[in-house]
Amino acid sequence: MIALPAAPARSVRQLRMLARDILKAAGLENAEQEADWLLAHATRFSRGQLLAAGNEPLTARQAEQARTYIDRRAAREPLQYILGTQEFGGLEIAVTPDVLIPRPETTLLVEEAAQAIGAQRRSLVADVGTGSGCIAIAVAKTCPQAMLWATDISWPALVVARRNALQHGVGKQVKFVQADLLGPFAASDEGIFDAIVSNPPYIPEGEMEGLQPEVSRYEPRLALAAGADGMTYYRRLLSAAAVLLKPDGCLIVELGIGQFNPVSALADRTRLSVLHCRKDQAGIERALVLRRLD
Ligand code: GLN
Repeated sequence: MIALPAAPARSVRQLRMLARDILKAAGLENAEQEADWLLAHATRFSRGQLLAAGNEPLTARQAEQARTYIDRRAAREPLQYILGTQEFGGLEIAVTPDVLIPRPETTLLVEEAAQAIGAQRRSLVADVGTGSGCIAIAVAKTCPQAMLWATDISWPALVVARRNALQHGVGKQVKFVQADLLGPFAASDEGIFDAIVSNPPYIPEGEMEGLQPEVSRYEPRLALAAGADGMTYYRRLLSAAAVLLKPDGCLIVELGIGQFNPVSALADRTRLSVLHCRKDQAGIERALVLRRLD
């Protein structure tokens, strides 16, 4: 029997052009670069190999895989969910649609947490709503003497976070627990943490639909939406932190746009006082540091 010839595979060059056109038509600004990242991921070529490959044919499997990735991206699925990773403060963090994709401005929280626990030995830190685990893992790497509890209400998120912690060799330093914020610690004695850090959900419900399609359609709503005024989690976090922080311990929270004033006003009604706030590269007040007073 004569075998039928395999369907002609596209060349690398053709597929690059096709990918660019599809991604441009989908309205992506960075279409050329994204096309190359997706093709490199599909073919397991480095970018250099991809450029050098030119007219070489791809296997049917590579072409099919590439086409799947391109179509997913054209439907505005975040690149990071397709590639499976995001860099965060120099660490490669695995991501799935169960976790928020780490943002560069969130590294400000890591810097502030490291600063707050600084020279202290054996400090105890909580990362509330750990998601991918990025903050807890980065703090653990920066402060090898710190021990961390990382909580999340989402079990699938904790699976990703634990995998990331093991990958970065901090599986013993960071303990993960499924919890609604600081739930399991609420009944504990006062003053157990040297620092509490959190990038909580802070988007007002009414603004969810107006977010980029990558965010509103694909990132976990649970990680983003925070009631009508976006303040739900700050209220609960501040009142829990006022009890669970040691005196002089710090709560470090990420803020959404315009949230410095309302969150500071909340702090005024607790035993926490505003130490300072770091702006991100866009000039937005982003990392708020509060200290327990007594
Ligand atoms: N802590 C994670 C991050 O900063 C997840 C935050 C969240 O899900 N709101 O990326």
